[in-house]
Amino acid sequence: MSGPSRRRPPARSSARTEAPAPRVEAGPTAAERPRPRPSAEPSRPFLLDFFPLESAAATRLARFFERLRAGRLSTTRCPVEGELHWPPRVACPVCHREALDWVDLPETGTVYAFSPVLAGAPLGMESDLPFIVGLVDLDGVPLRLFGRIVGVEWPALAIGARVRVEPFAVDADRVFYRFRFVSNPPGPITPSSEQA
Ligand SMILES: [Zn+2]
Repeated sequence: MSGPSRRRPPARSSARTEAPAPRVEAGPTAAERPRPRPSAEPSRPFLLDFFPLESAAATRLARFFERLRAGRLSTTRCPVEGELHWPPRVACPVCHREALDWVDLPETGTVYAFSPVLAGAPLGMESDLPFIVGLVDLDGVPLRLFGRIVGVEWPALAIGARVRVEPFAVDADRVFYRFRFVSNPPGPITPSSEQA
């Protein structure tokens, strides 16, 4: 809050002949707002960058990114209940324990659902259009992960396709995962949409 010296006295409720237009206190402009991100972070717009906080100084989930950078998609598991979390947690959502195990996840899975992104890409991803996002059931674990699916054009992708996890460098400082197409299930591909 700003200092009290700038506060206006409350408006008198009994208006005279001409009521003044209601005033709206202007908030700070974009340039005046404090910038929460460290200057060392990369240059993408903060609010549209879904994964800007990867360093140990910025997130207690830094191990997820460290392991991903080493090629291992992993998550946390509570040693008490034994259940995998997704996304990884800093504390167990059941017993609130903070000392959690880190476990590697399977590298392969099956496409449960997908959608092409044909327009309206997030800032910085316009040149990737069209691209595919989907839900993938990882083999052998009860986890369904959301992510980009690469290596196939969307009209040629089928529900049930096999994919594998692929860690990749977002930029020089950051890493994330995506899924790379391996093969479609046997049988004809059902058209995802009808062309007029
Ligand atoms: Zn627990």
